Amino acid sequence: IYVLGIETSCDETAAAVVKNGTEILSNIVASQMESHKRFGGVVPEIASRHHVEQITLVIEEAMNKAGVSFQQLNAIAVTQGPGLVGALLIGVNAAKALAFAYGLPLVGVHHIAGHIYANRLVADMKFPLLSLVVSGGHTELVYMEEHGKFQVIGETRDDAAGEAYDKVARALNLPYPGGPHIDRLAHEGRVTIDLPRAWLEEGSYDFSFSGLKSAVLNTLHNAKQRGEHIDPKNMAASFQASVIDVLVTKTVNAAKEYNVRQVLLAGGVAANRGLRAELERKMAELDDIELVIPPLSLCTDNAAMIAAAGTVLFEQGKRADMTLNADPSLELA
Ligand code: ATP
Ligand code: MG
Ligand code: FE
Repeated sequence: IYVLGIETSCDETAAAVVKNGTEILSNIVASQMESHKRFGGVVPEIASRHHVEQITLVIEEAMNKAGVSFQQLNAIAVTQGPGLVGALLIGVNAAKALAFAYGLPLVGVHHIAGHIYANRLVADMKFPLLSLVVSGGHTELVYMEEHGKFQVIGETRDDAAGEAYDKVARALNLPYPGGPHIDRLAHEGRVTIDLPRAWLEEGSYDFSFSGLKSAVLNTLHNAKQRGEHIDPKNMAASFQASVIDVLVTKTVNAAKEYNVRQVLLAGGVAANRGLRAELERKMAELDDIELVIPPLSLCTDNAAMIAAAGTVLFEQGKRADMTLNADPSLELA
């Protein structure tokens, strides 16, 4: 089965061809990061315009690189939501046009289902499983009993983990997106500042990062007022320690309670070296649960993950028609 995946939910224009839901034949990503950098975040209007300019080229390149013709494809999978509506629409309309022109089945994919299915490109999925999804817009624990069935058992009540990284990075005068910069500094610094950890109610798998973010901002502000210097490396290390402590502890607890066979890491923040290392260390203590962590290129936005998730939905008989529309607040479950 050959599936073309298309992803345009945010600031990456991406297309990929995946064979049998597991084998990447091509994975093309055109990033717009440079255009958004000077604004310190993604500007929706600029994102849409870039997608329009790039989409045809990116799809063409993905098809050429894969060496697959449109006639050989079995389906086209596209990110339907969530994301920026103007950005999503470019991908959805490109997918509809191609599906119509070539008489191909069309499948709408949830962006977070895509992030989770990035794992299927590196390992077999073993159910029941638990996925920790940590990205720019999401922080959730998703329980899966079988393919295509998602149960959100915990989610952030305010900021997503990636959002907190980007905001703290901004306060430390680091470039956007700040996650990778904090990660790098954290490894050079020491945990010297006592920052809060939002455990929430006993047994809750929800997250909260806005209190932590405020604590960082207040600490920096107060130090500045007193004329004291805080080493950004130590602030990065302290902040990162708090984020990782909560993410890893809740993931391990949920994995035990739900008796899963596998834990999957997903989303852009999964590129975080500290998080990867700590999750590996804690999961190694549990002997019968396998941990899967995709390579960095599959953690951030890409279309191979959309094709992988789309293949499963296609095999389950899920089809979209020409009324398929972008849904900026699409629900996963
Ligand atoms: P969503 O998937 O929720 O719609 P998104 O697609 O914008 O949001 P991703 O592209 O999956 O998010 O991830 C981007 C986020 O990952 C940014 O917030 C970025 O700072 C963060 N990130 C990337 N690398 C790292 C890292 N090494 N450490 C921490 N955060 C990182
Ligand atoms: Mg992005
Ligand atoms: Fe994403």
